[in-house]
Amino acid sequence: MKSLIATLVLLTTIAAAQSHPLATAEDVHTIYTHLLPQIEKIAIFDHHAHPGFPDDTDVDAMASPPGSAPLRERDTNPELVAAAKALFNYPYADLSPEHAKWLVNKKAELKKAQGVAYFSNLLDKLNIEQGVANRAMMADYLDPKRFVWVFFVDSFFWPFDNQKERARNADQGVYMPLQEKMLHRWMEQEHLQKLPADLEEYLKFIAQVLEDNQKKGGIAMKFEVAYFRPTRFGDPTKEQAEEIYKRYIAGGVPSEQEYRTFQDYIFRYLVREGGRLHLPVHIHSAVGVGDYFNISESNVMNLENILRDPRYADTIFVLIHGGYPLERQAIWLAAVKNVYMDSSLMEVVMYPAAFKDSLKQWLETFPDKITFGTDSFPYNDALGAEESYWLGVQTGRTGLAAALAEMIAAGEVTEAKALEMAHGYLHDNAVKLYPGKVH
Ligand SMILES: [Zn+2]
Repeated sequence: MKSLIATLVLLTTIAAAQSHPLATAEDVHTIYTHLLPQIEKIAIFDHHAHPGFPDDTDVDAMASPPGSAPLRERDTNPELVAAAKALFNYPYADLSPEHAKWLVNKKAELKKAQGVAYFSNLLDKLNIEQGVANRAMMADYLDPKRFVWVFFVDSFFWPFDNQKERARNADQGVYMPLQEKMLHRWMEQEHLQKLPADLEEYLKFIAQVLEDNQKKGGIAMKFEVAYFRPTRFGDPTKEQAEEIYKRYIAGGVPSEQEYRTFQDYIFRYLVREGGRLHLPVHIHSAVGVGDYFNISESNVMNLENILRDPRYADTIFVLIHGGYPLERQAIWLAAVKNVYMDSSLMEVVMYPAAFKDSLKQWLETFPDKITFGTDSFPYNDALGAEESYWLGVQTGRTGLAAALAEMIAAGEVTEAKALEMAHGYLHDNAVKLYPGKVH
């Protein structure tokens, strides 16, 4: 009898929760209007950003070569005026050079007056509680209570003579010297005059950098390797990697195949170390800037053999930028229990109407595995980290409210469930990955 009642209760719940494909635009709009203010009250954890000033070269471990910016990221985007108005009470209706000067001066004035509080105040304005600073090194003008460091590890891929890599195209000509510089900074950090003669010692050096960076406050390691080589990683033996290391560490130019084999081994070593040290692995998984970024060779699905490898079950992977523009396939990689998605960049490249559709598909698939990031970056004086924070947060919150409004109107989720998903996406899902380190 008891179980019959239980069955009946279950059946009525299911009946009440029957979803349907056509909601009226009016319904969706009413729910959206009711939902958005509640979503605006959720304090955000920003899972991916590059806070800093435009003249600070440490905002990234690489530099953007001049390339074709998509429409919304151009300085002609009128939304930047709205951003400047919201953040700085900008008095003009356009960003003409003489008006933009007002904005540049205003930021300089505030920066001088507020010091370390400048970027924290910006987070307050956008209701971001805490955010990642994915930077080469941390800046003394970012308050460590509000900004947590994610450091880059790609430079460990490039210990040999890189002349051949540099010559591949103009972009690599910019990137390679910066990777070499980054490797030297890690060597300086560990008081190393020159790189060790054998692989075992080189791996120890890498592990020491990871551990020291963790002590300095680093919460995760970041790969932007898609900019430098294909992201399909083979599985060479240690002996193979060792032979190549020994042959080229003192000089000589490795062939492309030799370099890739060595890097495949280093990549997998870093992934394993991420598991040992509880240091999540962030991977750039989307399109990238520059004229030579190879989309097919850096396709997010190339990582599938790594992500689904049970040997790396202890490593947490975060697919930064959600594999865009393959985000609809990429979300299925989050079926793996240690794989998470980050939507940064998606909500800056896409306008809210398009972003809403992608986010909705994510929410309908693995809502507990998706995280929010702004990918804020100081592009130039007018489109600074400030404006890109605003753009990311605006699109994130409005897109989220719109996606959830459609799901509620279609009977897919209750309002309570929708708000739980909103908290997960904007804050809780990411925070859980760094227990005791972020909030
Ligand atoms: Zn980024």
